[in-house]
Amino acid sequence: MTDDPRDQGHRGHRLLPLEQAARLLLAEVRPLSGEEFLPLAQAVGRVLARPVALDRPEPPVPRSAMDGYAVRSGDGADPRRLRGAVHAGTPGRAEVGAGEAVAVMTGGTVPAGADAVVPVERARLDGELLRLDEPPEPGRHVRAAGEMGPTGRVLLEPGRRLRPEDLAAAAGCGLDPIPVRPRPRCAVLSTGDEVVPWTERPEPHQVRDGNRLASILQLARAGGEVVLDRHLPDRPEDLRAAAAEALAGGIDLLITIGGVSMGEKDHLPEVFADLGVERLFHGVSVQPGKPVWAGRRGPALVLGLPGNPLSSFVILELLAAPVLRRLGGETGVPELPVFEAGRCLGEAAAKKRPRFLTASLEPSAAGLPGVRPRPQQGSGDWTALAEADALLALPPGARVRPGDPVEFLRLG
Ligand code: AMP
Ligand code: MG
Repeated sequence: MTDDPRDQGHRGHRLLPLEQAARLLLAEVRPLSGEEFLPLAQAVGRVLARPVALDRPEPPVPRSAMDGYAVRSGDGADPRRLRGAVHAGTPGRAEVGAGEAVAVMTGGTVPAGADAVVPVERARLDGELLRLDEPPEPGRHVRAAGEMGPTGRVLLEPGRRLRPEDLAAAAGCGLDPIPVRPRPRCAVLSTGDEVVPWTERPEPHQVRDGNRLASILQLARAGGEVVLDRHLPDRPEDLRAAAAEALAGGIDLLITIGGVSMGEKDHLPEVFADLGVERLFHGVSVQPGKPVWAGRRGPALVLGLPGNPLSSFVILELLAAPVLRRLGGETGVPELPVFEAGRCLGEAAAKKRPRFLTASLEPSAAGLPGVRPRPQQGSGDWTALAEADALLALPPGARVRPGDPVEFLRLG
């Protein structure tokens, strides 16, 4: 410990290591059950509730991969007699006999008897006779029946957060609507007599409620649905009433912003105690975000974020996002978000606590992404959120310079 009071415990509690705080929180998570059916076009970002599998062999019949001629390879280099044409969408199955060829377009069903397609570019038509540049190889340019898989081949496992690529595959399986997990229901309460809606012009002694907007959007990005969001003055009665209302509304996660630190108007820990919220921890060894408070009441988790914009932002990414993702039924969510390797493009340092700084990612000569810390005047400097792609993660005591290996957490 140093002499810096910010590195000491919080309100008499020992600071909890970040990993331990994450583990404590995640131990409380019971993934939501149930499912909803959504049109495929509206399911991006939702968590798949059941496996998605092929509903027929793909392709169900052999298809041509080229515009060309279906032939028997056994006829070698001999000229073929051309008999008709098959287009993509032609139903049924034509036939190719010995010494014959049938014109076939890309996607058309390869006729029975044929085992190769000769591309148009590799053949010449001489009246009714088709002359080939070379003898065809068996199987050439034919998409064999079932080559992508048999009926029942699972393409998507449940617990996956669906991306456009996944939904394209689900469309191929004909699964529309698609079963997805319900989204965790969240409430966001920001506090502070000095805080005004971001749509208003603040007086010099006031600040805009940027954290409430950031939290709403961060929660949505992690899969949550914000069902209640409100700003409150620093009055215990108001805080108590709003938190009670939120908790009574069947939510999964209550996020509060501000009011958990050491100030005279930081009432939330007492309010939570009054409401019977069981405390999990108060104070985590992390910079910024040390005063974070966490607890649970019944099925609802409560996370009290410190009010400084970078504190609330960082804690939401580090601690709340994994909670939401697990609540939402996503599988394989690690306790802490995954950090990637990068090269530092600036200077930064951490003291006794692990430190997180917003950073931009840039291509770097070394192959690893370049990580440039945003200019930042402490945890109140919300301008450091602009153009941030990542959080640069510094272990306690680290001092990094341009070119040093660093770890970062990619945002979004
Ligand atoms: P607190 O955690 O309540 O002591 O707040 C710490 C700092 O963050 C103070 O300077 C507040 O003005 C600021 N702050 C608190 N809530 C918000 C908010 N919702 N949006 C922007 N800044 C805030
Ligand atoms: Mg406050």
